Amino acid sequence: MHIDILTLFPEMFPGYLNESILKRAQEMGQLSIGLHNIRDYAEGKHRVTDEPPYGGGGGMVLKPEPVFAAVEEIVAREQGSKGAREKHPFTLATEGRPPLHPIILLSPQGRPFTQQVAQELAQAERLVLLCGRYEGVDERVRQYLVTNEISIGDYVLTGGELAAMVVVDAVTRLLPGVLGAEDAANEDSYATGLLEGPHYTKPAEFRGWAVPEVLRSGHAANIARWRREQALRRTWQRRPDLLLTAVLTEADKQFLAQLAEEEVRRS
Ligand code: SAM
Repeated sequence: MHIDILTLFPEMFPGYLNESILKRAQEMGQLSIGLHNIRDYAEGKHRVTDEPPYGGGGGMVLKPEPVFAAVEEIVAREQGSKGAREKHPFTLATEGRPPLHPIILLSPQGRPFTQQVAQELAQAERLVLLCGRYEGVDERVRQYLVTNEISIGDYVLTGGELAAMVVVDAVTRLLPGVLGAEDAANEDSYATGLLEGPHYTKPAEFRGWAVPEVLRSGHAANIARWRREQALRRTWQRRPDLLLTAVLTEADKQFLAQLAEEEVRRS
């Protein structure tokens, strides 16, 4: 996957993107990142990227021209010639399916970013991530350029850069082969529709607190069942809403019924 990131602060990215699993993904050739400074696409001697809002009010607004110019340049480069700009390859999202090449505006007003959204985006060959700043971007960018808006939570950040890094991180770990078999993402929280259960490592006993016996038993089926029950228990306790949509077996349902009975007995 190739991800183009448009930002006024490209220097914020290399530290995070060039470490650990993201570094490995790039070395493996599974991920490549293009960092683009929006200011480079602004015109005039001073390369102005923001102006006060029409109608007054505080703050500044990211101008549309440099943002359109940056995206159009990236699109044209992908197509190999500027003359091919009209054939915009960044197709729009269709019902239930992500666009082939989404142009995503990071925005506190966007679609909440979840593991499911990460899984959808991981199917794309290319992504463009646009980081807003100040009061945000000119509305015409949102209306006529971007295909998706994503929010990483119900709070307001200073800029879209952290949000872009969150998206890159969550999507990259879902790309084929990026995680080793040992830490495969398919057992992670949300991947199965449940929260993942607890993990333990050595020592077997720490300050008198022992690792559950079953995990040291070497009995694969018992360990798998224990893990599943722990995941169900944790989800029941912390995110019962997830149980409404999780795919549950008969054994899972029986275990949940047991948890419910325990709770009734306790109350
Ligand atoms: N005035 C905007 C509003 O009230 O919706 C907030 C602008 S915010 C200060 C500046 C930029 O940070 C946004 O354009 C967006 O790119 C980014 N941003 C802020 N919070 C975000 C969030 N929760 N998720 C994704 N991006 C966010």
